[in-house]
Amino acid sequence: MTAGGRAACVIGWPVEHSRSPLIHHYWLKHYGIAGEYRREAVRPEDFAAFIGSLAARGYVGANVTVPHKEAALALSKPDERAGAVGAANTLWLEGGVLHSTNTDVEGFLNNLDACAPGWDRGADKAVVLGAGGAARAVVYGLLMRGVERLVVINRTLQRAEALRRQFGARVAVLPWPELGPALVEASLLVNTTTLGMQRQPPLTVDLAPLPAHAAVADLVYVPVETPLLTQARARGLRTADGLGMLLHQAVRGFALWFGVTPTVTAELRALIAADIAR
Ligand code: NAP
Repeated sequence: MTAGGRAACVIGWPVEHSRSPLIHHYWLKHYGIAGEYRREAVRPEDFAAFIGSLAARGYVGANVTVPHKEAALALSKPDERAGAVGAANTLWLEGGVLHSTNTDVEGFLNNLDACAPGWDRGADKAVVLGAGGAARAVVYGLLMRGVERLVVINRTLQRAEALRRQFGARVAVLPWPELGPALVEASLLVNTTTLGMQRQPPLTVDLAPLPAHAAVADLVYVPVETPLLTQARARGLRTADGLGMLLHQAVRGFALWFGVTPTVTAELRALIAADIAR
């Protein structure tokens, strides 16, 4: 443990791009906590040894990013969320045991609740684009919140089918050309693909079939304002962006490591948005 406080880190390979240090440093300063949060660049072959020596290195826990999230799950005691998503992004030591969770689930739901309060009132159908790791967190979260029917649409159908097998009969799979009809009567559309991200192909969706009460969420946060969100707002629909999710998913780790549940403030949002815009 470092002088005067606790320390946590983000472990990745590479890790320079991670915005977690900016977020946690903001909260440490905001709450006057003498803690530390560092970047740790760790090669895949060194990851097991690294997290096996977290305590010896002075850490009370860590965030885990690409490519270590599956290894982190296997090398820790995961909660139900991390198990369902198949990946862990937050680790903490408790009684000498390394625990893990996946905070993308609550990051997604808490941001959606903040941006579109009541979105789940009578939410009987949601459409999820994508079937990767982020989609698993979103599908798990939406089922947990009681959405009755989920339609998963993905370029590679087999990946969507795997999701349906894992999450059961409330999940249906459709090919991409069926997106238009799937949006009819859907109360939520979520993009979990990388489409619309900087240096990726654009996401082209006609939002006209969505009902007026629907909300649209995009997990992409570079850029913060994606064309999908611009298009949704132009139609008068409520939106939730990927930056909000990124900030909300960081809350739990900070609370576990530093003992204070932090607030996602407008000032923090502006700080990270400015960094993304750079
Ligand atoms: P992933 O496991 O690699 O999945 C990528 C998804 O994008 C797959 O469904 C893939 O379809 C689809 N895709 C990629 N290129 C495509 C293309 N050209 N056409 C159609 N579909 C395409 O990645 P992930 O971890 O799920 O992350 C997905 C996105 O979510 C990323 O933009 C990531 O930054 C974002 N994310 C944001 C947060 C947050 O806090 N805001 C958290 C987690 C993730 P195939 O299966 O056909 O390849």
